[in-house]
Amino acid sequence: MDPMPDDSTGARPAPGKANLLGMPRAALREFVLGLGEKPFRADQLMRWIHQRGVDDFAQMTDMGKALRARLAECAEIRPPEVVSWHDAADGCRKWVIRVSGGSCVETVYIPEKHRGTLCVSSQVGCTLDCSFCSTGKQGFQRDLDAAEIIGQVWLAARSLGSFADGATRHITNVVMMGMGEPLLNFDNVVAATDIMLDDFAYGLSKRRVTLSTAGVVPMLKRLGEVSQVSLALSLHAPNDALRDELVPLNRRYPIREVLQACREYWAAQSDSHRVTTVEYTLIDGINDRPEQARELARLLADFPCKINLIPFNPFPGSEYRRPPEAAVRRFQEILAQAGYTATVRTTRGDAIDAACGQLVGQVADRTRRNQRYRQAAPVIASSLHPLEPGR
Ligand code: SAH
Repeated sequence: MDPMPDDSTGARPAPGKANLLGMPRAALREFVLGLGEKPFRADQLMRWIHQRGVDDFAQMTDMGKALRARLAECAEIRPPEVVSWHDAADGCRKWVIRVSGGSCVETVYIPEKHRGTLCVSSQVGCTLDCSFCSTGKQGFQRDLDAAEIIGQVWLAARSLGSFADGATRHITNVVMMGMGEPLLNFDNVVAATDIMLDDFAYGLSKRRVTLSTAGVVPMLKRLGEVSQVSLALSLHAPNDALRDELVPLNRRYPIREVLQACREYWAAQSDSHRVTTVEYTLIDGINDRPEQARELARLLADFPCKINLIPFNPFPGSEYRRPPEAAVRRFQEILAQAGYTATVRTTRGDAIDAACGQLVGQVADRTRRNQRYRQAAPVIASSLHPLEPGR
């Protein structure tokens, strides 16, 4: 029996009440029009909710008492629940967040000198099952709704003190690189990223809100029609044979098609000179050899991009290893010599298990993958990369 109620159908307002937290401005306007109010009420609501962090209509003092009472009757501002949070010595903070149905997802804040990046989850678990990612091993329960996605930003902003002190903008960047594949939860991710970009809400620059995808080709095409966010592509291999093993989605949408879909995404944008960030998780002996760096350079020769190398972060049950520092540098140098901007992502939040691919949440798995993986872990872990010679 499924231990959790089936609530995978998207936004689920509490009985009779609409949750305004996840509504982009257009939806909020519709909502206030439905109450017989002027559209500017939506702008006011957005500011109260997303700039001042208010979740109680009674505090919205630039609206009449009658309207406030009316809103309290038919609407709510309901973020998901923070179960716990953890601070790492390097300043990273991780929140474990419970969403309706009981499962948990994770959100991570990564402060740097000139920016603060929030890594946001889009699904409870993930269906893609990339061989090097621990989220995939947790299986999949459901999509997050828009309020649960933007709610992570809202909760983080509140926890970091951003609402109280409007002058300090802790969160300057958001990356959709937490648990889940954002393009497989299209409508909710687009709604939440719309709110991130909206000047009446978080007002983040479109260059600073990044959607990371394993390459769901049809959804990339749709994204270009409705969104302006920046794009990161999880490539991880210089050819289809290896990528088929690391990112099983590649068997459906091979590299050539994915790169073409990214090109078309940018072509649909007004400022088409922005480029895709190619993410490449470096795994010892699997995809980190010099000839693979050269192959990657050839593959991306006419693809406008910058490359972000991510040394593999280990997790229990995986036999993959992080490459030695020298192998990472050599890989980076080969790309640099070929003319690419290639950066190495420094591992942050390690001590609190908040690094890339270590987010596991607590998934009421509906796919049985978790169970299968646990039973077969020793076998699966060694059979995940049959392409690698000599191991
Ligand atoms: N599904 C989306 C977003 C989530 S993963 C996507 O595939 O892009 C975000 C990034 O985490 C991926 O690019 C991947 O490179 C990285 N990642 C996953 N597991 C990792 C691990 N164990 N070590 C290092 N990076 C990892």
